[in-house]
Amino acid sequence: EMKAEIIAVGTELLLGQIANTNAQWLSQQLARRGINVYQHAVVGDNLDRVTAVFADAQDRSDIIMVTGGLGPTEDDLTREAFQKVSGLDMVEHGPSMKKIESFFKERKTDMTPNNRKQARVFKGAEVLDNQAGMAPGMIVENEGATWVFLPGVPREMKWLTENSVLPYLQKRTGIKGIIKSTVLKFIGIGESLLEHELSSLIQSQSNPTIAPLAQESGVVIRLTAKADTAEKADELIEKTSQQILEKVGQYYVGRDEESIEGRVISLLAEKNKQIAAAESLTGGMFMQKLISVEGASKACAGGIVSYTEEVKKDVLGVSEKTIREKGTISSECALEMAVNVRRKLGADVGISFTGVAGPEKAEGHSAGTVYIAISQEGGRDVVEKFLLNGTRDSIRQKTVTKGLQFIFE
Ligand code: ATP
Ligand code: MG
Repeated sequence: EMKAEIIAVGTELLLGQIANTNAQWLSQQLARRGINVYQHAVVGDNLDRVTAVFADAQDRSDIIMVTGGLGPTEDDLTREAFQKVSGLDMVEHGPSMKKIESFFKERKTDMTPNNRKQARVFKGAEVLDNQAGMAPGMIVENEGATWVFLPGVPREMKWLTENSVLPYLQKRTGIKGIIKSTVLKFIGIGESLLEHELSSLIQSQSNPTIAPLAQESGVVIRLTAKADTAEKADELIEKTSQQILEKVGQYYVGRDEESIEGRVISLLAEKNKQIAAAESLTGGMFMQKLISVEGASKACAGGIVSYTEEVKKDVLGVSEKTIREKGTISSECALEMAVNVRRKLGADVGISFTGVAGPEKAEGHSAGTVYIAISQEGGRDVVEKFLLNGTRDSIRQKTVTKGLQFIFE
């Protein structure tokens, strides 16, 4: 059985300035392909210590993935350390050197000598063209161990892993098949209820595996299928997705890159409708979320952040009477906010948010008391009260999610 190990090089990791997300991501990729990871190591930019860690890895592991320290600067010591351990010579890699030279030529800046270092590779190494950056990756077979050297920059590391390293390792280890996964997104249903609804499916099903996970904006289910070909894996995922949607389809938002805000925008755009928002406790977060969607201009009119009582009255035109008799945290106030923002901004749909983000109470209402109202041109105005919990930040986030969900329904 193959034993894999991941070594991350970089003092920032030891200082806690950055998290070792490279190792996390690489572990996930290897695990999905049936390659067992036995060790993670982190070592600072120090030649003796990197060399010592590499020497241990050579003895104990079959596959060793190293990230970081391939750059041009003094503290990039991965090459030097491996040279000490392996005794392999280094040569200049022509194509990589050309790439570096033309990079500097295009920018009309002088190349400093240390940049040549990035084109240096071990003799006999498989050089991995880094289309996401400058330093090439390398795979070196050394005394029975497969060494993989990758840049530290996560985007480059991922690109090389997906395009060159995993295919190589799969061939090398003889582990066949491909792994595909899809994320299905749900809203308006908790993780435990979702799991309950799907329990028989989850228990009877091993390919794809079904893994529910609660997230800030709802619940997701990750389906991971293993098959000989990509088409077969897609088929398996498709079949199980259908079975899941038969049970909990009413909560379904979309898959992978699809988001609830994206769905709301397309829903409005399809109907040729524009939305306007009056936001108190969300302070513009709702509109920010919608406008982050490409093509939002078709469906978003604008918004008013009406945080104080005065702005609710003077700008939005909420009546004196409502505020005096019911307060700003009330269904009446929410309804007037929604109707008025729709009219004032000439939109088809108005939505409003008023409530207590906390941590303190307000107007006698406890933190997390939230009213959301929706007003539609020529339609019925609706308002709903929510009692949310969490920190100030999470109450505000949840309010936005509830608003998106409210429109979606
Ligand atoms: P460069 O050519 O940019 O110097 P490099 O291969 O030498 O690349 P490092 O200098 O070690 O890599 O890291 C570059 C950047 O990549 C770091 O500043 C850090 O932001 C990120 N990075 C490095 N290692 C990791 C890691 N293990 N997990 C997440 N991010 C990392
Ligand atoms: Mg570096």
